[in-house]
Amino acid sequence: MTKSMTGGCLCGAVTYAAQGEPIFVGHCHCVHCRKASGTGHGTHIAMPENDVSVTGEVKSYAHPADSGNKVARSFCPECGCAIYSKNSGMPGMIFLRASSLDDPDQVTPQMIVYASRAPKWDVMDASLTSFPEMPEGGAQAAMDR
Ligand SMILES: [Zn+2]
Ligand SMILES: [Zn+2]
Repeated sequence: MTKSMTGGCLCGAVTYAAQGEPIFVGHCHCVHCRKASGTGHGTHIAMPENDVSVTGEVKSYAHPADSGNKVARSFCPECGCAIYSKNSGMPGMIFLRASSLDDPDQVTPQMIVYASRAPKWDVMDASLTSFPEMPEGGAQAAMDR
């Protein structure tokens, strides 16, 4: 059976449905993810864009990432919840925010990137593969190792 996940924002204006297994799930402690998150990291579910259908209008904020890629973060214009991001370095992919899932335990994070930037109080699962910065070739390449 194909895995199916649903999620959305706090006010309900934006919802989504995702079909299939994530390519990877990871925590990111970069400053941008921290500031956009409400805590010390963002948790991203990487999926092919075609496997995700979003209902409702999002607002996006695009900014350059440390990698030089452009990251567009999309959120509900009404309640501000982070829904997903897209990265110009990984076309065709969408990064859903695990915080927006209806059932967040449907995913299991596998890795941590930018661990060196984590606040001391945001302690992560020590059994996860952890990279101090973004690994060479990006998170997807790291998962393929
Ligand atoms: Zn909303
Ligand atoms: Zn990040």
